Amino acid sequence: MTGPKIGVVGGGQLARMMAPAATELGFDLRILAESEDVCARRAVPFAPVGDYRDYDTLAAFAREVDVLTFDHEHVPTDFLQRLMDEGVNVQPRPTALVYAQDKIEMRKAVDRLGLPNPRWAEVRTLDELLAFGKEGGWPVVLKTPRGGYDGKGVMVLDDEQDAREKSAPWFEQLPARTDFSALLVEEKVPFTRELSALVARRDSGQVIAWPVAESIQVNSVCDEVIAPASGISPEVAEAAQAAALKVATELGVTGVMAAELFEVPGSEAGFLINEFTMRPHNSGHWTQDGSVTSQFEQHLRAVANYPLGATGIKGEIALMKNFLGGTNDDIFGVYPQLMEDYPAAKVHYYGKAVKPGRKIGHINMTGPANELAALRQQAIAAASLLTNGPSTP
Ligand code: ADP
Repeated sequence: MTGPKIGVVGGGQLARMMAPAATELGFDLRILAESEDVCARRAVPFAPVGDYRDYDTLAAFAREVDVLTFDHEHVPTDFLQRLMDEGVNVQPRPTALVYAQDKIEMRKAVDRLGLPNPRWAEVRTLDELLAFGKEGGWPVVLKTPRGGYDGKGVMVLDDEQDAREKSAPWFEQLPARTDFSALLVEEKVPFTRELSALVARRDSGQVIAWPVAESIQVNSVCDEVIAPASGISPEVAEAAQAAALKVATELGVTGVMAAELFEVPGSEAGFLINEFTMRPHNSGHWTQDGSVTSQFEQHLRAVANYPLGATGIKGEIALMKNFLGGTNDDIFGVYPQLMEDYPAAKVHYYGKAVKPGRKIGHINMTGPANELAALRQQAIAAASLLTNGPSTP
């Protein structure tokens, strides 16, 4: 006897981390894997290999499940619409997912909802880009509206000369693109830190928010997350949660959604919206050990339209530190030392091969608020052990 059959498109670490929650609940989790060796395949027994960019392959997988959801946002919107027309239960629906896939659509929606956007414009030519910079001042941030991740597809332009030199290849490729026809330009926001407002919504309309977290990026990749965000004012935290819940409700999002925010003290709301992700997100990994309900369990509950779980923090603070591939290629070789030295560290290794700079896992820790500095130091040391191996005295 099993619960709902939940099909996930994509077999990366997010799909893999849904597996423990599915096992606990008795849900039948299935993966459409990009290749034999994706990391979710070692955690999920039913994981056929197939190309989601081929409609027939995607549809054959989708027809066998009760609900179809995602590990990434790269499935073409028109495929998802076709699946829905065939009667497949797609969660989140393409009408909502488009705001996580397309940053120009997202900016328009944020304006429509009256939520705080940075200054932005759609640009098709260098002249339009230069006009935007001239009007509001430099630097600006130029983005491809689709297909970006971990800072790929984001370009900071310091001044007019920089814009002329760097943006040309992006404008040149525009006519050949079928997935977008303009670039997005934004003011470079003078933020003090990045925040993440993580929420979930299910089809019944029920919504819930986790405490707002702080995310620390290194080279445009999420490196550390602290929940709740240290020293955040209750007004900003409440407004950030309210904004994310409004987005989830008004756009009809289902599943977990992360609203990534720029904290800007002195601005009207105290923050501006960066973007939305409609799936479990790196900034929510702390919930695996730090919240009553992890984002992975919540995503399964939400897409299958079950009542949502409680989102309180276990203990006072929770933190997460990513670890990347580095000079140590024997992850398990350092486990004895790591486990001995940091018995409270929760290791989440994605089972991925070590490649320099590749995100291969994270460490979670929880504890009392007054131990934040010590916990961070332990998480950083544990992550460094995995990345760099033991340091030689
Ligand atoms: P991705 O889709 O790769 O996550 P983002 O749009 O989140 O791309 O941008 C990646 C990073 O670039 C952000 O986390 C932030 O640090 C920086 N960034 C993006 N947009 C802006 C902006 N308008 N102003 C300042 N920094 C920005």
